Order: sequence, then structure tokens, then C-alpha cells
Amino acid sequence: MDGDDLAAALSRILPAACISRRPEDLRAVARDESDLPGVLPVCRCRPETTEQVAAVIRLAAARGVPVTARGGGSGLEGGAIPSAGGLVLDLSAMDRVLEVSPEERLVRVQPGVVHDRLNRLVGGHGLFFPPSPGGSGDMATIGGMVSTDASGIYALRHGGTRRWVRGIEVVTGTGDVMRVGGRVPKSSAGYDLKSLFIGSEGTLGILTEVTLGLEPVPPESARIALAFPGIEEACRAAAEMAGYVPEAAAVEIVDRETMGLLRGLPGLQDVPEAHLLMVETQGRREDCAAGMESVRDIAAGHQGTVVTGTGDPWALRHRLTRTIRETSAPGGVVRTDCAVPLPALATFVREAKAAGGFPGDVLAPGPRRVYVFGHGGVGIVHCLLPLGGPGAWTPGEARAARTAIAARAVALGGTVSGEHGIGIGQREVLAQEHPHGVAWMRRLKALFDPHGILNPGKVL
Ligand SMILES: Cc1cc2nc3c(=O)[nH]c(=O)nc-3n(C[C@H](O)[C@H](O)[C@H](O)COP(=O)(O)OP(=O)(O)OC[C@H]3O[C@@H](n4cnc5c(N)ncnc54)[C@H](O)[C@@H]3O)c2cc1C
Repeated sequence: MDGDDLAAALSRILPAACISRRPEDLRAVARDESDLPGVLPVCRCRPETTEQVAAVIRLAAARGVPVTARGGGSGLEGGAIPSAGGLVLDLSAMDRVLEVSPEERLVRVQPGVVHDRLNRLVGGHGLFFPPSPGGSGDMATIGGMVSTDASGIYALRHGGTRRWVRGIEVVTGTGDVMRVGGRVPKSSAGYDLKSLFIGSEGTLGILTEVTLGLEPVPPESARIALAFPGIEEACRAAAEMAGYVPEAAAVEIVDRETMGLLRGLPGLQDVPEAHLLMVETQGRREDCAAGMESVRDIAAGHQGTVVTGTGDPWALRHRLTRTIRETSAPGGVVRTDCAVPLPALATFVREAKAAGGFPGDVLAPGPRRVYVFGHGGVGIVHCLLPLGGPGAWTPGEARAARTAIAARAVALGGTVSGEHGIGIGQREVLAQEHPHGVAWMRRLKALFDPHGILNPGKVL
């Protein structure tokens, strides 16, 4: 079906203003925040209601048109790239907060509500939605976060998005509207269908409404940055803090090379060029302080020292992804998103850094660089392999290294994706983790998407 025919068919079920074939609109939805090449869809539509989404899906199913759901386009694995062409279903206009119920600590939203906006709004009730995609909180939508099971810095204390989803409304690949889950924090009623859609990256259905649980804003929080002589010492300290400091809400790792890039930015000449941990404790004032004391003790046991000159550690932390890409990877990056059990964290990071062909602690540029940072407290490690710039990899080398690093994570008992999802970028490594599971995933997909129109070419 060509673009004109599709737009004409859509105009019979949607207001004209919701449909676009303008080149600039198609270009705007051709890619996401990964460095994977964009693909132009033939049409973009921005529905405003569940009924409109269902009508669009029924039309697409009848005509065999691929449909790629899109939230904020901040995904890092190409999930929102319309790689099969077809239609981009842009959910950003479905951005109403439908209900806030402080006494139930609950909010009901349309999928296009952006993370930071939601937290500003529920913050007025003393509540917050803890998963935090850091540097993309101003772009990421709740629909996108549920669809990738996003997490971020506070996963250590508050878990990922999945923990907070109480109910969803979803349009399946047949155009059927289904509500699963509800308002209660837990249920034992039959199979947990809701969970199937969390992290399914738009391949099983389109989320049109989400009910989320919320957490009271902690009364106090305290933050600290600590420098370590080696990345392994930093990792061991991170694992110990995660295991033994219950007040620790976030334990983030940043390697020295990445910190070195930050120092090159205006106003940041004083940030330390060292392997860092950035830690936040939360709770009552005395608990925060006690937690911080334990954090300092653990750090000292691994030769860690408190550093100054970082300002708010999170302001720095949230700049990492973009800084690496903008200053030192003109051809983009190939990234890993593995997570490993905490006892294996130091080994994993040492081996991942060695993938670049140089010892992890030698700052002199090795043949190929591996920038490492991540949510160390939950074992999530992002390795960014630059394509272009100092220590560049060829795309083939970088993909091979990613496969090798992912295989190592799986061998250590971990996962190939801690939080970004599989998208296009990680498809080749999914089977390493689920050698038997992938076939069952295909069967599930066929059940909810029998015409194979929902985000084809992703995940599986
Ligand atoms: C600087 C930066 C920092 C980041 N930091 C983190 C981090 O710390 N933790 C983390 O987890 N992620 C992080 N991310 C990744 C990204 O922000 C998350 O993956 C986020 O959840 C994507 O939301 P989105 O609305 O932008 O989704 P999109 O990119 O638009 O889509 C992501 C996937 O979800 C699907 N989708 C979107 N909306 C729907 C819907 N309504 N129904 C069905 N499917 C849908 C899409 O088809 C696609 O497969 C970061 C990204 C950037 C650029």
C-alpha cells in the first residue's frame, strides 16, 4: 500500500490534522537516540484517543501495513525506528493525566505523558514515580518507559518501571482493546498478561493508558562522589554498598575516561579525572546520615576517597551519554546494556574494558576505547564503543565486541539488556540469553499480533 493510499484510508477514520506525509514530519520520526540509521515511514499519524488507535490498527491489520509505535523517540536501541517502513503511530498527542489519587498513591495517564512532567505534577502531592531515565527524562514518555521497562539511577532502591505498573489499556495487533491489571498494587487473578506487555517494545500491542503506583518523596536525600584508584575497586565498593547499605538509593559508576571527557566541557575543568562512584542515600535525616557513613567506610576499604568539584553528581551523570557522542564519537557509538550479578561486576567491567585491547587502568589511549558507566548498584553496565574519534572502532569490530561482551554477561549469570530493551541493536544477542525462550516469544507474538504488523523486525 503506498503512502497516498494509506493516508487516504486513514483520513476516513482520523481527523486530517492527525495524519502527515510531510517530509519534515517523516524525517522527525525516522530515527531515535540510537546511532542506528533512520528509515522513513510512508506516513505518520498522531491519534488522540484509544478508539482512534484501535481503528488505525484494524486498518493496518487488514492491509498488512507495518506499524511502529513512537513515544518520545529517546530509545537507545532503535525500537522506534520504522525499519519496515509503513506507518509511525506517534503517541505523543495522547498526553493527558487522567487521574491522580494521592490516597491510593496512584496516577492514571495516557501513554504520551513525558516523565519529567509527570513527576512535576505528582510532586505537588508529595509523591513521585521513581524510575528515572536520567538524561532523557524530558523526552521519554510513560508509554515508551513501560514498553522498554526503563529504569535509571534509582533502580537499586525503587526498581524499574515494571514494579510500578498497576494496570494498562492496550490495543492488540487485531485492533482489540484490552484492559489488564487495575488499581490494586497486586493481584493473583489468572495469568499476568499485563507483564507480557511491559518491555515488549511495541511488538505485542499499543499502550493507550497506564495506571502507575507512586512513592512518597523521601523526606531527605544526600549525595556524594567518591574517587577510586582502579575501576575494579570502584566496582567492588559499588557491589558492597548495594548489598549492605539499605539507605542507598543509587550507586552509579563512571570510568576515568568518561570523566576525562566531561572535564573538557566549559565550566567542568575541575571535575576529577578518576574512576568515580556517585551515591545517593534516602530516608529520614538520621538514616541518610548513617547510610552515608557506611558508604564512606566501604569506599575507604577499597581505597576510595571523597571528592569535591563535581557539584550535583546527578547533573554530571545525566550528561554522560550525550557528552561521549557529541565530543568523542563523531560516527556514533555501539553500546552494550548488560547487567551482571553484583559479585561478578568487577570481573565483568575489567574484561569489558580489556575488549578495547588495552588494560583498563591505563589512560594513555589504547587502540580502541571503551567508555564505561552505569547503574552499578544493580549491576547495569553501559559500554560505549566509539565509531570515529580517538580510539575508534570499525562498526564490524564494535558489533563483534558487543556480542562478546554480551556473551560474557550471560555466562556470568547476567542479562544482555538491563534497561534499554532489544530493539534492532541487540537482536543478535537476545538468543544468547534465551536459547529456548526466543521460539516461545515468537509464538506469543503471533497470538497478539497474528498479522505481524506491530514493529516488525524488532526484538525477535
Ligand atoms: C541521554 C539518555 C539517557 C538515557 N538514560 C536512560 C536510563 O538511565 N535508563 C533507561 O532505562 N533508559 C534510558 N534512556 C533510554 C530511553 O530514554 C528509554 O528507553 C525510554 O523508556 C524511551 O521512552 P520513549 O518514550 O522515548 O520511547 P521511544 O524511544 O519512542 O520508544 C521505545 C520503544 O517503545 C515502543 N513504544 C513507545 N510508546 C509505545 C506505546 N504507547 N505502546 C507500545 N509501544 C510503545 C516503541 O515502539 C519502541 O520500541 C536514555 C536515553 C537517552 C537519550
